[in-house]
Amino acid sequence: MTCSHLNTIKRVTPSASGCEECLKIGSWWVHLRLCRECGHVGCCDESPNRHARAHFNTTRHPIIEGYDPPEGWGWCYVDEQEVDVGAPTPASRTDPALLLNRPETRRPPPVRRRPFLHSSPQSRPSEAR
Ligand SMILES: [Zn+2]
Ligand SMILES: [Zn+2]
Ligand SMILES: [Zn+2]
Repeated sequence: MTCSHLNTIKRVTPSASGCEECLKIGSWWVHLRLCRECGHVGCCDESPNRHARAHFNTTRHPIIEGYDPPEGWGWCYVDEQEVDVGAPTPASRTDPALLLNRPETRRPPPVRRRPFLHSSPQSRPSEAR
């Protein structure tokens, strides 16, 4: 199966230096995902709020890029497969206040195994059990 959404990949400017919604509600995230259609920055499925997937569910923008830090891989939510997004989008993490929002000191134990990023950027959804 081949992803048919590669033509939706655009050069985008990240909308925020961190997950937009988490910044608004004062939450935190594990990794960031950048929407390659509109530049929305959301948090990954390992984060408590899963805003990147929520963004997909709302907008149907299929392709996200691993973005925290820029990791150079993409993921299609529709086909659930890794896609080539070309050169990583540079991070725009310049606001030092955002560093205070980083979860390092508030990350809940235990930190779950980090999936091998190049084989599966998404962890298995826990509700699938
Ligand atoms: Zn696709
Ligand atoms: Zn979020
Ligand atoms: Zn989008």
